[in-house]
Formats: sequence, structure tokens, C-alpha cells
Amino acid sequence: MAALEGGTAALAVASGHAAQMLAFHTLMKPGDEFVASKKLYGGSINQFNHSFKNFGWNVVWADPDDISSFEQAVSPRTKAIFIESLANPGGVVTDIEAISKVAKRAGVPLIVDNTLASPYLCRPIEHGADIVIHSLTKFLGGHGNSMGGVLVDAGSFDWSREGRYPMLSEPRPEYGGMVLHETFGNFAFAIAARVLGLRDLGPAISPMNAFLILTGIETLPLRMQRHSDNALKAASWLADHEAVAWVSYAGLPGDRHHQLQQKYLPKGAGAVFTFGLKGGYDAGVALVKNVELFSHLANIGDTRSLIIHPASTTHRQLTDAQKVVAGAGPDVVRLSVGIEDIDDIIADLDQALAKGL
Ligand SMILES: *Cc1c(COP(=O)(O)O)cnc(C)c1O
Repeated sequence: MAALEGGTAALAVASGHAAQMLAFHTLMKPGDEFVASKKLYGGSINQFNHSFKNFGWNVVWADPDDISSFEQAVSPRTKAIFIESLANPGGVVTDIEAISKVAKRAGVPLIVDNTLASPYLCRPIEHGADIVIHSLTKFLGGHGNSMGGVLVDAGSFDWSREGRYPMLSEPRPEYGGMVLHETFGNFAFAIAARVLGLRDLGPAISPMNAFLILTGIETLPLRMQRHSDNALKAASWLADHEAVAWVSYAGLPGDRHHQLQQKYLPKGAGAVFTFGLKGGYDAGVALVKNVELFSHLANIGDTRSLIIHPASTTHRQLTDAQKVVAGAGPDVVRLSVGIEDIDDIIADLDQALAKGL
């Protein structure tokens, strides 16, 4: 993973959320803040809003479509900025270079969750990321059969500033007074996450999952190219369908994130996108019921095509207004397009949409 991302070292752990927990555990003290894009995977929004608050780690939200909101969110207590390269689920492409400049001015590391893009489509370190995070559960494993997470140290951040990042810059009593950034230099962050966070908090990856994920990584470039090519064809086909109101996929030439996609993910915009049905809530429920090749699953990044209607499932507890803000309005359907033959994928959507007309 370090080689794929162009970093100096990597640490595999039990899940994507474990990777996020260890990254922040290495950087934060109770009462500290971090700035995060509000266009994130729903599970990360929950983790930051609730569980992290119990540790005294306070999130301040910013809007990736308005870079100045990141600048405004930074305070003297800010210890990191967190974004997704390609944001789940709406096909938002984040301007990594612009936000990395904000992070450099603030003197804090930029953490990029690169799960949806994978290092085949986007390499955030080349655009200024200091730490890259993945849920290995998705495209890197690639078969929906194992959980894991990883953090990659870019080796680019200077941890030496007195008092800012004490885990890295102060003597460690349990290691005979060793100062990690002095001993380990440009891979000190990965070492600190391993010898302090992973050791003490314990979210180790299981050997079987590590084996399955390494096997998955061998086919990453083949799968990601096919996922992206299939998703672009499916998105274009849906955009022309009479039952479809809109499609949000950065790979489509008219999409509002298309220019950023061309810059950051030139080989393709990935597998995941959302679209809206003119028939609203009931049409969404019916489509999920009527597909045959697509599996009804909240996961993404499987070789097989997956579909979900968030308003009636993952986002059911929210009010209608909250659903719309979260990109899970009543009409929204999310696909994670698989690597099957594109003609079969489109034929399945075609027959299922026809039943709803
Ligand atoms: C799934 C996911 C996570 C969390 O990963 P787990 O392995 O399920 O803990 C984090 N970020 C993104 C973008 C994800 O899709």
C-alpha cells in the first residue's frame, strides 16, 4: 500500500474506521479540533460527530465546494484536516491541492480518505496529502468478503514543532525516552500509529482478511478500470432514460465535478454514483425489488453490482429534510457498478425500470 500510494510506510488495521481512529489518536489530545469536509461517508460523519467527541476530539465541518470555509474553520487548536478524494456517495471530487495549501498555511497534516478512488484512480500524496487512509473493505479487497483498513504515511510532514504533536515530538516513557520523529524520521507517523495506537487500542487486522485483501490488490488495476468504464456507460444510459430525473457522476461531461475529475482521476470516476427517479420514493423501492443482477446491499466496491435506496434503508431514521441534506432524498438510488458485462448491467436496469413505468 505504501508503494501504491507513493508513501514511506503503511499500517494495516481491522477496518477503515479503525484506521481513522488510529490516525487521530496519534495526532489529537482531548480538547483539540480537526476540520473535516462535510461531504463524507455517512459512517465517518457519525464517528466524528459522536464517538470522537467522547475522546474530546472536536470536529469542525467545512464545505469542499467552498475552499475558504476550510480556511475559516481552522483555529489554534486545529491538529488536522480530513477530506475524501472522491466523496461517497454523491460523486463529489475534492480539490486536494487547494485544501493542502490551507493545511500547509495552518501547519497541520492533510489526511485524505482515498477509499472510493483507490490508488489506481487517484494518488493524493502527489497532490499534497500527508496521510492517506483507506477502508480496505471496499475496492482494495474488492470482493465484499473481508474487512480491513490502512493508513499510509507520506513522509512529508515535519512533526518536530515543540508541543504540537506530543506523541511524535516528546520522549516516550515506555520506550526508554525515545522521541519517535527523531528515531524514525519520515516514517515516524506510521510507527507511532503502530507502536502506540495499535498496541494499546488493539484493532489488529486478522491474518485471513490480510491474505484475502492482498489477493484482491493483485487485480486492482484491472477491476478499477472496468468498474469506471462500466459506471460511465451505466450513468450515461440512465441520464437518457425517461424515468430518471438526474444523475450525479463526476465522469459525465456535464457534471459539476467533471473538471476536477479530469485533474485528479483522469483514468475514470470510479464505480459509485447516485441518480434520482421521477417516480420518487415508491419508484426507488420498486427498482431495488425488480433488479435481478444487482444485489441489494449497503456495501460498495464489490466485483458484483450493488444497489440501494437510502431513504428506505440506511437513512430511514432521518427526517425528510435531513435525508435531502445527506444526499439521500426520497428519489435517490445509489449504485456501486460491478465488473460484469456492461450489456447485462444495462439490460437489468432496463427491465427493472420498465416494470416501474
Ligand atoms: C466504508 C468506508 C469507511 C469505513 O470503512 P470500514 O472498513 O467499513 O470501517 C470509511 N470511508 C469510506 C469512504 C468508506 O466507504
